[in-house]
This record gives sequence, C-alpha cells and structure tokens, in this order.
Amino acid sequence: MLEVSNLDVVYGRTHAVKSVDLRVESGEIVTVLGANGAGKTSLLRALHGAVKPTGGKVVFEGRNLTSQSPAARVASGMVLVPEGRQIFVSMTVHENLLMGAYLRRDGKEARDLGAIYDRFPNLAERKYASASSLSGGEQQMLAIGRALVARPRLVMLDEPSLGLSPLFVERLFGLLGELNRDGISILLVEQNTTMALEVASRGYVLELGKVVLEDTAAALARNTALTEAYLGGG
Ligand code: ATP
Repeated sequence: MLEVSNLDVVYGRTHAVKSVDLRVESGEIVTVLGANGAGKTSLLRALHGAVKPTGGKVVFEGRNLTSQSPAARVASGMVLVPEGRQIFVSMTVHENLLMGAYLRRDGKEARDLGAIYDRFPNLAERKYASASSLSGGEQQMLAIGRALVARPRLVMLDEPSLGLSPLFVERLFGLLGELNRDGISILLVEQNTTMALEVASRGYVLELGKVVLEDTAAALARNTALTEAYLGGG
C-alpha cells in the first residue's frame, strides 16, 4: 500500500532521514520507534508532503506521490495526525471536523460526520464548544476525528499518546485497533514502545535518521537490548 524507498530529508547541515526504506501493507499497523531526534517526525512530514525530501520515493497504492502536495496526498487517501494535535483552538469542535472535509465534494460529509460523532460521543456532546475547552485526550480524539473525515485508507500518527492520561492512552490504542479492524492501515510513530508494539504487527527502529532494525512487533518486544538501549522500556 505504502512503499517508501531511499528517502532522505536534509535541513541545512542536518541529515534527519537517511536512505529510509519502509513499507505498510494494506490492513497493517506498522510502528516507527526511536529516541528523541531520531528523525521520526521528519520522516512523517516527508510522507505527508509538508517537507520536501532531498531524495527517494513515496509510492502510495501504486502512485508516485513524491512531489505531490499534502492536499493531493490527503485526496489520494493518506492523512497525517500531526504531533501536538494542531487542532484549531479558536474554532468549535464541529468546525474542526469540517476542516477535515474541505477537500471533499461528494456531498456525503454530513453522513460521515455523523459516523464520527457516533464513534466519539464526547465530541458529539461538545459539538458547539470551543476546541480549546477540550481536555488533551479529547483534543487528540478530535485530531483523529478530523483526519477520518477525509476517509483515509492510511492514517499516519505522530506520537498520539504524548501527554495523555493513562485512561486516554488506553482509549487511544483501543481506537487504533478498532480503526484497523474497520480496514484502515496505520503508520504509528510512538514513544510508548510497549503499547505501540502491542497494537502493531511490524516495527522499524530509527537511530540518527537510519533504520537500524526492522522486525515483527512480537520480535521487537522480545528484544530487551533494544527496549533498554534505544527506547528506555517505553
Ligand atoms: P522527536 O521525538 O523529538 O520529535 P524525532 O525522532 O521526531 O524527534 P525529528 O524531529 O525528525 O526527530 O528531528 C531529527 C533531526 O532533525 C534532529 O536533529 C532535529 O534537530 C532536526 N530537525 C528537525 N526539524 C528541523 C528543522 N525544521 N530544521 C532544522 N533541523 C530540524
């Protein structure tokens, strides 16, 4: 479904992503792990199109999207839930969700917003409240809800559990499993190694911009050298 080959991101003198090869098959949850500064966010930003890679290729469902805009990638079916959620705090919950539909012209947005409110009853209750009044966990749900309005087949998430209470972390990972069962493939960047490896089928470990390890999630979870050395046990 997603094939990334030889991807490079360079900022000035910082080579943030180095010749990364990565794939996500249809129906998979794949996680990307690594310490702070390993290049995880840069990788996702290049996949989303917010950062122009200096080399390599991003192919989604057989289409080369390497030089496409973020909007074109969303229209093709891949969306990013960015680090720090980046919801519009001066808007209501409902307006935030509508922003996720701005590329759609099929007239079915209202039905899909209904499905999102069914999935997130907390958001339905707060439909006309300012997004700034939501808790961190609710804001994360809103960011995911906004991404779902675009009807993606692949959702990429950048550290969605960061700063959430344990209860919301549980809900978040439960939600990722649910979305996956509904047919959405997921590329998950996480600091919470333990939870990420529980929900994912495969994982990649980034170190200084390079993939240093790639394996099934079960094998990565058993790799104590890895969890201790790179990841601090999650
Ligand atoms: P974190 O977990 O802290 O988000 P990360 O693994 O996502 O870390 P990146 O944010 O991708 O890592 O950073 C990789 C490297 O690129 C770091 O050395 C960082 O300082 C550098 N970097 C990131 N963004 C920029 C930028 N816009 N300009 C210059 N250097 C950057």
